[in-house]
Amino acid sequence: MTHKVLLLPGDGIGPEIAVQAKRLLHACQDAGLDIDIDEALVGGAAYDAHLDPLPPETLQKAKAADAILLGAVGGPKWDTLEDLSKRPEKGLLGLRKNLGLFGNLRPAMLYPQLASASSLKPELVSGLDIMIVRELTGGIYFGQPRGIEVRDGQRVGFNTYIYAESEIERIGRVAFEMARKRGKKLCSVDKANVLEVTILWREVMNRLAQEYMDVELTHMYVDNAAMQLVREPKQFDVVVTGNMFGDILSDAAAMLTGSIGMLPSASLNESGQGMYEPCHGSAPDIAGKNLANPLAMMLSVAMMLRYSLAENAMAERIEAAVGKVLDDGLRTADIASEGMQTIGTDAMGDAVLAAFAQQA
Ligand code: NAD
Repeated sequence: MTHKVLLLPGDGIGPEIAVQAKRLLHACQDAGLDIDIDEALVGGAAYDAHLDPLPPETLQKAKAADAILLGAVGGPKWDTLEDLSKRPEKGLLGLRKNLGLFGNLRPAMLYPQLASASSLKPELVSGLDIMIVRELTGGIYFGQPRGIEVRDGQRVGFNTYIYAESEIERIGRVAFEMARKRGKKLCSVDKANVLEVTILWREVMNRLAQEYMDVELTHMYVDNAAMQLVREPKQFDVVVTGNMFGDILSDAAAMLTGSIGMLPSASLNESGQGMYEPCHGSAPDIAGKNLANPLAMMLSVAMMLRYSLAENAMAERIEAAVGKVLDDGLRTADIASEGMQTIGTDAMGDAVLAAFAQQA
């Protein structure tokens, strides 16, 4: 069956790294992968062309795709747009909402070759491989009521932290299934000593654990989880948590690896359709200079092959190609260290493609 993949380059370095992803997809096609690749505009680029960061044509193509590959959106050019609904980020949020992408997978893995790039001691992070499963469409970021209003003569700001049992259960299942495919350890992060909503969260996770007896479930308060992430990060395999805690912990975990230019991510919906993108933004400071590290984007292709297209062997081949390039001492500026050869975006793309071809 032909898999339909939609490529959304976006803004800033997005188009530069999307070129490398496209070359990789073509190489996968040459290696026997049956995919159909389409492209569309999103974010600032779509606003410039259609005055809309998520044009109907893009949304329609996204709905019809099995998987979406996104570069990044945003940049100073659009930061002054007064109509907030036209800002590039609305393109991204619109895709998440319309496609129901509730499950955010944020791996924090460190290739041993890059252990010196981390701000932690190499022995603490070398070989690090954590998967953070973050609920993406609920929790305090979306809860109602919310607002700022005057009460008793002063302004108060308020939000609602709310999760329905069904929302907790569906993200819990994603996390248990993920743990089953990995090291069979799942840590659920909450604040059940203070927040009722996370008392319910913990109850639902415990209930689900009865169905996944092969997975070891533990619970951790979010403040302790933040400490443990920097104290002994390799204790974690899969972590599951709500939207806000996941937002914060996944960024902290990403930084353990030293370069955000290396990390892919995925957002999945209930039918397994997914959007795959690097964890980083559009890096306007280096856009157009052939400086961007394309590896997070190329590893997003691998993640897409694994989680939406069930093409594990091809995903492993890409990851091995990236490992080979790092073994050979090739680095973009963001991960450069002494004695290594610093190369640009295009040359890094060339090197991964050459290593991919060698893996045949
Ligand atoms: P950023 O991730 O774009 O950049 C932070 C720093 O990391 C910069 O110094 C940048 O040069 C560097 N960097 C990022 N990706 C890199 C790569 N692949 N190779 C080498 N260096 C890289 O974050 P920011 O500066 O806070 O945001 C810039 C723009 O991106 C903003 O408009 C923001 O809204 C947007 N953004 C978009 C997304 C997304 O599309 N998912 C996510 C975050 C930020």
